[in-house]
Amino acid sequence: MVQLQRPEWVYVRGQVRPWDEAVLHVSTEAITRGLNVYEGLKGYWRQDGASFGIVAMKRHFARLQRSARLLYIPCPVDYQEFEGACHDLVRALYRPDRDMWVRATLYVVEGHWGEGTKADLVLTAYHQDKAPPAPIEIGVSTWRRSSDDSLPPRIKTSANYQVARLARIEGRGRGFAEMILLNQWGRVAEATGACVLLVRDGAVITPPPSEGRLESITVQILQELCGSLGIPFVERPVDRTELYVADELALAGTLAEIVRISRIDEHRLPERAPVLSRIAARFWAAVRGVEPHPAADLSIVEPRPQRSGIAQLAGR
Ligand code: PMP
Repeated sequence: MVQLQRPEWVYVRGQVRPWDEAVLHVSTEAITRGLNVYEGLKGYWRQDGASFGIVAMKRHFARLQRSARLLYIPCPVDYQEFEGACHDLVRALYRPDRDMWVRATLYVVEGHWGEGTKADLVLTAYHQDKAPPAPIEIGVSTWRRSSDDSLPPRIKTSANYQVARLARIEGRGRGFAEMILLNQWGRVAEATGACVLLVRDGAVITPPPSEGRLESITVQILQELCGSLGIPFVERPVDRTELYVADELALAGTLAEIVRISRIDEHRLPERAPVLSRIAARFWAAVRGVEPHPAADLSIVEPRPQRSGIAQLAGR
């Protein structure tokens, strides 16, 4: 059985509060129609443990606003409030031996069919292993990514993950931890929670968002890192068969980070991945503050005051 973390604190209704206080009424559109938009952000300890930085917070907030606008959900916070809320929750929960993943969700708590819509910002944060991910084996799903004229993939809303869930269940039956979804034209869209990167003849290739993938912040970061490293980076449509003949293959995303693929369906990838290894090394150096890069700007969480402020943060 999966064991999900149950952190002590959560941010809801404008404050850090005990986990059990994050409740929504069943009549809200957040529940009846699964109406929300969200972001997943990653925070890393600097290599020497001196500070904790959340990656690309501005870009995440901008995408949250874009998702909200596309679903006619008013965003109840500005950037300063958003950043402050993330810092408050992380400060209440972080531990020196673990990195963190923060889920920032706007749940629609008032309104009906787009009238009188009001949302609340809810943050949950979970501890993550510091070790880089090991290579994984994946498959191509029979389920298809939705299209821009049905459920636009560039909106990061939970409803967009129903097909991802079906694909994961399908994949589990075939022994795969992740699955790639093709788009309505039968070309590569993305994985269930990350984008797809191929290397062919020394160039990194990824499908553009118009092929049905999320406007990924990690892909943007990697594209900019490739620019600095002098590695060609191309956004173009990708056929399924290109996955099978790629020199190197990886998934990229905030939570997935850069994870190499060792097998796709029945095709094994070469053992060596020199281009992806170079990019991954530069990525880790940037997010851990060893060799900062403007693409991976860090929002630094100031440490807790000597006397713990948790009780005060929790409003009790
Ligand atoms: N596609 C999907 C469906 C995702 O859920 C994610 C993770 N947010 C990504 C791609 C990667 O996006 P990002 O790099 O912004 O995390």
